[in-house]
Amino acid sequence: MNLHEYQGKEILSRSGVRVQRGYVATTPEEAVEAAKKLADETGTGFWVVKAQVHAGGRGKAGGVKLAKNLDEVYEKAKQILGMTLVTPQTGKKGKKVHQVLIAEDVYYPGESKPEEYYMSVMLNREKGQNMIMYSPEGGMNIEEVAEKKPEKIFLEYIDPAHGLQDFQARRIAFNLGLSGQAFKEMVKFVKALYKAYTQNDASLFEINPVLKTSDNKILAVDSKVVIDNNALFRHPDIAAMRDIREENPIEVEAKEAGLNYVALDGNVGCMVNGAGLAMATMDLIKQSGGEPANFLDVGGTADAERVEKGFRIILKDPKVKAILVNIFGGIVRADRVAQGIVDAYNNMKGEIHVPIIVRLQGTNADKAKELIEKSGIPVHFVTEFKEAADKVKALVSA
Ligand code: GDP
Ligand code: MN
Repeated sequence: MNLHEYQGKEILSRSGVRVQRGYVATTPEEAVEAAKKLADETGTGFWVVKAQVHAGGRGKAGGVKLAKNLDEVYEKAKQILGMTLVTPQTGKKGKKVHQVLIAEDVYYPGESKPEEYYMSVMLNREKGQNMIMYSPEGGMNIEEVAEKKPEKIFLEYIDPAHGLQDFQARRIAFNLGLSGQAFKEMVKFVKALYKAYTQNDASLFEINPVLKTSDNKILAVDSKVVIDNNALFRHPDIAAMRDIREENPIEVEAKEAGLNYVALDGNVGCMVNGAGLAMATMDLIKQSGGEPANFLDVGGTADAERVEKGFRIILKDPKVKAILVNIFGGIVRADRVAQGIVDAYNNMKGEIHVPIIVRLQGTNADKAKELIEKSGIPVHFVTEFKEAADKVKALVSA
């Protein structure tokens, strides 16, 4: 699950990471209240208004604006709230801004630009270890640094059994070129960041930029946090931070129905049982010259209700030109699935306007074929993978 910047900062802060402080607002009036409260608490007279969407690259897209008085806070919040932000991470459609974070300006206007670093913690699957990636070249996009100045990217591997060692945190501060008070602050920062990562079962913490202020404070100016969905049950407070406005609405509906659905960009909808078969089916569609419109695993019980729900969800995507049902009758018999398809189809009479190819294999596949043929529903029944591929190809290119 992805979090908003302000939520990520809240979690960081709880673990002792110093962050650029702020309050979230949903209207320009709330933004002004937030700015006043922040001024009372921190003594700041300068603010930054930041769009809260699940995507980076907001700064360059106009989603981060400075404000030097309360009128400007109001104006900037008004400009950003409701705007559709298009960044390299949002896709072409962009993301609508529902909230802004009113944060203290930590760049101390009037002074020279402070140092910006990059730091992230994530799992390195190959090594089976956690990894801190960091760079003295912060503020800009890290992919660009990796391309142009790969020598400026450092990695520190952490054995999860031992945890982050003090010498490792010191090495990081050293490689970032720090000394004195800033060095000590960085060591503290790294340790707290790593603690936040492990304590919250995160799969990613990315802070870009990490800032060194002119008075040698080290703090997180941004946060991108991804929490492992499988661990959310251990963190009800984080689970409550979910913002479904940021998610694909069809995926949300599928999840509620207990279906494993991932929206993709293609034109062939697929309904499959089992994740492995679903992957193979997507390959098959690609090889036939089509593009899968989705990944959908209906799971072990492909009864009429689930098949109907599956069809309904697939058909919500207007790009779908054909549906391929590829189900293997193992635990569930193929004839039961066939009955499910017939019932679902009859229930949805008139709502299905795209051709359906059904491939059923496994226990009672012959009975399944008979059942479908007798029902008279207009589906293309096939038994072999290759036949399914040819049928998809013919229908997609037609
Ligand atoms: P991103 O563009 O989505 O990664 O959003 P960030 O939170 O990283 O902000 C983008 C940029 O805005 C940063 O790289 C900073 O240069 C700038 N920025 C953020 N906070 C402040 C601030 O308090 N003062 C100033 N002057 N600039 C800021
Ligand atoms: Mn950033």
